[in-house]
Amino acid sequence: MIDRAYIQFIEEFKDTLFLCNGFSRVWDECLATGSMWWARRGDDLPAQKEEVYVTCYYTPQLFQVFKWAENYPSVKFIVGGPAANVNYISIPKNVEFKLGFVEREVFNKPATTAWKLELPEAKEKRIVASYTIDQGCYWGKCIFCSGQWQHEGGLHYRASDLVLPSTSQPLVICLATSSIRPEFIKEELHKLPTSVRYFSYLRPDASIIRSLSESLPKCERPELFSFSIGVEFPSNKMQRFMKKFLTTDLILKTTKLLTDFGCRVRYSMIVGWSVLTKDDLVEAQKFVEEALLINKDIYLNVYGLTAKLDSGEERRNKLIVMNKGTWVKYESPYYASYYQPVLSEEQRQLNVETLKLYAENFRFVEYFQRNVTSINRLLKEHVPLKYVEEECPI
Ligand code: SF4
Repeated sequence: MIDRAYIQFIEEFKDTLFLCNGFSRVWDECLATGSMWWARRGDDLPAQKEEVYVTCYYTPQLFQVFKWAENYPSVKFIVGGPAANVNYISIPKNVEFKLGFVEREVFNKPATTAWKLELPEAKEKRIVASYTIDQGCYWGKCIFCSGQWQHEGGLHYRASDLVLPSTSQPLVICLATSSIRPEFIKEELHKLPTSVRYFSYLRPDASIIRSLSESLPKCERPELFSFSIGVEFPSNKMQRFMKKFLTTDLILKTTKLLTDFGCRVRYSMIVGWSVLTKDDLVEAQKFVEEALLINKDIYLNVYGLTAKLDSGEERRNKLIVMNKGTWVKYESPYYASYYQPVLSEEQRQLNVETLKLYAENFRFVEYFQRNVTSINRLLKEHVPLKYVEEECPI
């Protein structure tokens, strides 16, 4: 039998261990066929085996694997997880990506909804771990998003499948999905164990609002939930442009509902749009004022607009049309398939104004996965950050 190692990354923050626990559903299969390891970026390869399976949530973790692959050319690296869902033009020869369910891809077994995670030593830190509740996104139309291309679905994840690992440390479960389904909210949210906190992502459409209105009153402790609302840009024109098709009214209504039940609210915004107008900015200012009247304590993550290009010409055309402009290649040996729009001076100014608006009014969280360096440059050069906090994104 081939000697295997299975590696999962840990991202460490001041008070949090963020586990990228991609092998949780197949824990026992992994142990039966090899050894399990936790690794941090910057570590040397923890186990030199013939085959090393790694789960990567974020691009910097993938780059760590590339470095290991270059240093250990005789080891074969098989990589899965969200960060592997990109077509890179060049990767080390001894790296192979496997997408799809780990059960099927690695063990040739049917996908399950099980959770068999064992936690690493956490000392005094809280632990964040992911429990997958869906693959991809039920909406799947937003033109900037890669979540729409991952949908496999078909499994019915239940609260009762979530068997909590024992720990004396505070535990946060990320209900991992591109966008939580209304059915999960309606049928499962109130059945989850109340000894831990939860985090998930939502698209605040009418069906989500209906489901939350039904489920939150039934939750014994609704204050245990944090939700990240993918606002992206708070104007109705931009919502239509990006095919998210929300309205600012729906977003504010959801913010109010979650706030009334004591849930923590986080907004996720995108900067780097090349089609903003002054009217969008006016609408965004009005939105921010109204959101703050509802909740003074809204957390915020900001991402730079990037797009993933792959070999499908159709998608390539779609992305270029979407931005009506030129795209530049990311400057990195491996980032071959991420592109950013080049902004005109007018668009750059509108994006800076937008970023200032967010940074001055929300609890701006400096997120460790800096996916676009230009945001940080913009922040440093132009934006007085009142609320920057170095913290885990969850
Ligand atoms: S709702 Fe969210 S996850 Fe779904 S396609 Fe849009 S951005 Fe992607």
